[in-house]
Amino acid sequence: MKNALVTGGSRGIGRAVCLELAEMGYHILINYRSNETEALNTLKLVNEKGSTGELLQFDVASKEEVEAKLSGWKQANEGKYIEVLVNNAGIRKDNLLVFMTDGEWRDVLNTNLDGFFFTTRFLIKDMMTSKFGRIVNIVSLSGIKGLPGQTNYSAAKAAVIGATKALGQEVARKKITVNAVAPGFIATDMTEDLEEKDFKMMIPIRRFGRPEEVSSVVGFLVSEKASYITGEVISVNGGLYT
Ligand code: NDP
Repeated sequence: MKNALVTGGSRGIGRAVCLELAEMGYHILINYRSNETEALNTLKLVNEKGSTGELLQFDVASKEEVEAKLSGWKQANEGKYIEVLVNNAGIRKDNLLVFMTDGEWRDVLNTNLDGFFFTTRFLIKDMMTSKFGRIVNIVSLSGIKGLPGQTNYSAAKAAVIGATKALGQEVARKKITVNAVAPGFIATDMTEDLEEKDFKMMIPIRRFGRPEEVSSVVGFLVSEKASYITGEVISVNGGLYT
């Protein structure tokens, strides 16, 4: 079976991506940081789709944890490699820049940007030697247009968009595609503090999106149908102007 790693697969968009890839027949490596209960729930749902999976707990912001866990997996699975990587783990810690603490800045950059770097750098080597791979980075509307109160998050997501475009060109000849999906407002734990009624008038489709409306695009980018698309950013935002 082919292997796919989804960072932040325990909840929200990451869980929907796990289920989409399970339907496509992948063995799913479900990464999470601390919520083992929800990660196990994702695994159960993956099994219900008729596929297999396993939990892989690590903090994407920690180079040591990323490298230790992924090396461990590699040693335990000789001859296999992770051909699909979905960099989905993310956090927001909103504040106006004038009040932003060092911690709020660093935490958001560490998880959303360094997390992409540590995980991708480790896994891309095997994709290159195997001459096939798919990388999908979950970015955000914030990284395209910038959102006030989110200079940290907008900076991190914009940086991942730049990295997506650069890396896509570096590895295209090895049949590895690198793309990004940029959601707008999606109903998950991350947006539970936002009242849909306060925001929906600015969204042309007049509602928040569902995680499955993001994961279906990830599934397409991973599929053979998207073999000629790389370095691209696809917005899934209900028509919000970007
Ligand atoms: P949720 O808050 O619902 O879930 C976040 C997931 O990321 C959880 O699985 C969490 O694990 C994991 N995670 C957080 N930090 C780390 C870490 N350091 N290491 C490993 N895993 C971590 O978020 P969403 O599903 O809403 O968001 C998923 C992605 O989509 C994020 O990158 C987010 O920025 C992006 N996005 C979301 C939007 C939205 O409106 N929801 C809009 C635009 C982009 P655990 O369960 O263990 O805490």
